[in-house]
Amino acid sequence: MPIKQIGCCGAYCKTCHPFKDGACIGCKPGYDTGERDISKAKCKIKICCIKREYNTCADCPEINSCPTINEFYSKNGYKYGKYKQATQFIKENGYIEFLNIADNWTNAYGKYK
Ligand code: SF4
Ligand code: SF4
Repeated sequence: MPIKQIGCCGAYCKTCHPFKDGACIGCKPGYDTGERDISKAKCKIKICCIKREYNTCADCPEINSCPTINEFYSKNGYKYGKYKQATQFIKENGYIEFLNIADNWTNAYGKYK
């Protein structure tokens, strides 16, 4: 379940403000149970990642060359670089290490040791 709370792009839904406030149910829950329909999703990253049955884009061998995720990561805004850092961290250290750190964040991204 905790891995489900990591958005496909690397945003950590569990510590994200709209999720904590109940305004957002998170990136991934509901698609595997039929409560949500992936064909109605707007985010191209999520559509691709969920259809390929990855936990996040960190599992994808094409992440470094993928235009979909890299256009997103190169947008203006601090958070996009932090989401990139999240998938890079997961690739290098795995999900358990990531969750050990990210569970202490107060936002959808945060500091690493
Ligand atoms: S931007 Fe897309 S992939 Fe990232 S958390 Fe939001 S819906 Fe999920
Ligand atoms: S192709 Fe791109 S968007 Fe799709 S799973 Fe891989 S990195 Fe994510």
